[in-house]
Amino acid sequence: MAWGALLVWQLWAVTGILVLLLVLLLGLHRIRRDPNSSGHKERSSSNLAEEEEGHNMLAKKEIESDKEEVNNDETGEEVNATGNEEDKHHANEEDGGHNVKRHLGSLLEERIQLPVLDLDKGCSVIMDLMDKLIPIFGQGLSKSFYPVPQQAIGVGSAFEGWSPSAQDLVYHVLVPLSPPPGHAFHLELDAAGVLQRNCCVRVELLCTCTREQLGEDMLCFLHHSEEELRRKQDPSLLHILCTGTYLDVEKTVHWFYRSVRVAWLLLPQSRHWHLMLQPSSRSCRFQLSRDQESFTAEVIFGVQQGDSDIFVGSQSTEAGIPSTTWLETYAVAEAKFFRHISMQAPHDSWHCKCLQLLSRILVGVGFSSYALKTVVMHLLSTVPLTQWCRKDFWRRMRDTLKYLRCSLDTKLLNHFVIGNKRFPMEISLPSDFRVAEAPNLFQHLASNPDAHMKAMQEYVHLLHQLKQMLV
Ligand SMILES: [Zn+2]
Repeated sequence: MAWGALLVWQLWAVTGILVLLLVLLLGLHRIRRDPNSSGHKERSSSNLAEEEEGHNMLAKKEIESDKEEVNNDETGEEVNATGNEEDKHHANEEDGGHNVKRHLGSLLEERIQLPVLDLDKGCSVIMDLMDKLIPIFGQGLSKSFYPVPQQAIGVGSAFEGWSPSAQDLVYHVLVPLSPPPGHAFHLELDAAGVLQRNCCVRVELLCTCTREQLGEDMLCFLHHSEEELRRKQDPSLLHILCTGTYLDVEKTVHWFYRSVRVAWLLLPQSRHWHLMLQPSSRSCRFQLSRDQESFTAEVIFGVQQGDSDIFVGSQSTEAGIPSTTWLETYAVAEAKFFRHISMQAPHDSWHCKCLQLLSRILVGVGFSSYALKTVVMHLLSTVPLTQWCRKDFWRRMRDTLKYLRCSLDTKLLNHFVIGNKRFPMEISLPSDFRVAEAPNLFQHLASNPDAHMKAMQEYVHLLHQLKQMLV
C-alpha cells in the first residue's frame, strides 16, 4: 500500500512539473513572437539606437532566458562608429509592445536598485537648523556692522531631489548676505569670464545723517570724526571683513564659523545633536549627528545680483583663487527650476530618478554631473512633463543619452540658465540673461581634441556601466 501511494504521488509530481514546463514554454513562445520585440529587428545606423537596442535586447534576454550569453560587443561598435543619423526605427520602438516595456520597467526597478534616499529628512533637519541659526545672528549683530545673513536657500542635488549616492551626501545651502546699515554692496563683474563670471563685492559707506536726525542710534560713518566713531560705534564692515574696499570671502567664512560655534549653544538642537565643524576656507562645512543619523552640510555665502535669483557666491572652483573673488552662481535659479518642475509635473514623475541613476553611474567617472544635469534640464523644458512617469523611464533615459551623445559629437552644450529663452519666467534673472548668447559648456572639448576623446571614452564607459547594471 505504501509503495502504491508513493508511486501515485510521484506520478502527480511529475505531471505537475510537466504542466508547469508546458506553460512556461508557451509563455516564452508568445514573447518571442511579439512583433515588437527588438531582438529580431534590423540594426539601424544610429549608434545610440544600437546601444539602446542592445539594452532592450539584454533586458529581453533576461526575460527569455538567464542562460544566454550576453553580448557585450555593442560597446566596441559604439567606440568605432562615427555616424549620428536620426534613428529611423525610433518610431517603431516608441509604439513597442507594452508587455516588454512593463517587463523592462520592473526589471529596471529590480536590477538597478536606486539607493532609497530619504532626502526630505536631511533637507528639513538642515533647513530647520539654518532657520534657527540666522535669527540668532541677527540679534547678536544689532550693534555691529557685519553682513546681515538672510534666510538660507537649499541648493544642489539633495534639495533638487536627486543625489548620486547616499554616501558622501552633502546638503548645500546658500546664505544670502545683505549689507549692514550704512553700507552698500556693489558687484563688479569681470566680463572676461564667459562661464561663471568672477566678481568682486565692493563695500561702500553711505551717509546716514538723516537716520541720525530721526533719532536712530547710529552715527554716520561719513560725517563724524574718526575719533568719535571709534569711541561710540563698532567699526564699519570695511574694517572687519574686507580687504581694501572689497568683501573678503575667507574673512567672511571665518567670521561665520566663529559665530556658529557661539550660536550653536543657544539652539535647542544642541541638546540632541552633535555638531562638528569641518575647516574650509571658502564655505562653512559641518556635520550634524546623533545615534545612527548623520548629515553633512556645506554653507556658501552669496550676494544677490539685483533682486534676481542669480548670486555671486563664495564657492571655489579652483585652488589659488583670490579671497576677494566671488563667483557667479546659478544654483538658486536651478533649484527653483527643479521646484517649478516638481510643482507642474504629475506627482509620480520619475525625472529625478532618471538623473539620479545616470549621475550615480558617473560617480568615479570624470564626466561632469553638471553637464548631465544640464541635459536633463533642457529635456525637462522640451518633453511634456506628463511623459516622465515610470512607464516612460526608459524612453527618457534614452533621450538623455542621445542628447548627451549629440552634444559630445557637436561639442556644443548650451548653458541652461544664461541665454535660454525657455527658462521659466517665474524665476527672476538679471535683464541681460535671457537675451545673452548661451555659453557653451563643452567649449573646452571644441578647443582640446584630447579632452574630447576622453569625454567620448567616458560616455562609452557610462553606457557600459549602465549595461553592467542591467545584466
Ligand atoms: Zn552723513
